Amino acid sequence: MNREELDKLVKYQIITDAFDYEGLDPDIVENYKYFEYRFNELFTEKANQFKLKDCHFVIKNNSYCNAFAKTVKGYNIIGITTGYVVQMRNIFNQKNIMHILSIGLISDQQLLDAYGNLYNLENFELNKFMLNCSIQFTFSHELRHILQFNSSKISVDNYRNENLDQSTFEIKKHVWEFDADRTASFEVMKYIFEMKRKHKINDDNIFKCMLYTGLGSIFITKTFFYFRLETSKLNLNKIDFYTKKYSHPHPIVRIFNIIDYFYDNIADFFPKLNITKQDLLNNALGIIKLYFSYYQSNQNIIAEIFNDIDNHLNEINDYNEELFEFAINDISIVNLLNASGTNFQ
Ligand SMILES: [Zn+2]
Repeated sequence: MNREELDKLVKYQIITDAFDYEGLDPDIVENYKYFEYRFNELFTEKANQFKLKDCHFVIKNNSYCNAFAKTVKGYNIIGITTGYVVQMRNIFNQKNIMHILSIGLISDQQLLDAYGNLYNLENFELNKFMLNCSIQFTFSHELRHILQFNSSKISVDNYRNENLDQSTFEIKKHVWEFDADRTASFEVMKYIFEMKRKHKINDDNIFKCMLYTGLGSIFITKTFFYFRLETSKLNLNKIDFYTKKYSHPHPIVRIFNIIDYFYDNIADFFPKLNITKQDLLNNALGIIKLYFSYYQSNQNIIAEIFNDIDNHLNEINDYNEELFEFAINDISIVNLLNASGTNFQ
């Protein structure tokens, strides 16, 4: 979208501001253009598919890593913050990625070899692949909110963002996050398969590495959103485990929901891979651990998060089952599932 159109949206109070990156350093401009191009491309495709009108993608000037979806006066807006752009670009950085993976995976030679082969594949950049998985996930999650808003048939303006708000709890909002995470993780899987086909990858171990790094990328993105990480301050403060509290489900609950759904779909579409839920958990959490051990000064937090998983496994699974039950009875979600022909029974 050009500047004039963006200014018009601000003037009509559809959005509060639109970041103008023109005039910044050429590297930075290129970076913003890349994100803008990817999001616009995805939004155009999905707007056609779902017959959505007046769709606009915007970048908001805010240093916290965040993404949002809103419907205002009939407009459908998906946005990200400048913090998301800067932080995702930094964390999925070319020069660190293989180093990070090799420290942690050195014990599994077969997998490490497959990562090496993937990394060295011609015309394939592992860091860019992970960045694109993050973008695919973020876009698809926000698009799902737009579709939830549109199918709820309540003609009010709606807004959801991805940072945790500790002042409110509504089960419906948890359920909508649960549903948006599932849909978005499925879109990431489709993207991974598309890349497998495009690069003619026939080796199962390399394909597994793609699935693990794609999943790892989703979880890294989630962690950045959830802990409201700000550019230049990469310090996590752990939030104690909870179920029915706050604006979004606890990240561990969401990680398990995504793993469950990823696992179900892999079992359906790629049964020959013989991937277990434990494989997904170990590898994807392994990647988070490696990334955050590398970037974090507070090393204890990772151990604490892993402790929480051990201590609350039953509650995590029970709460996800409860959210599933709510989801298949939520009118907006049921409308969307019926429209897509998905059968969750
Ligand atoms: Zn959300």
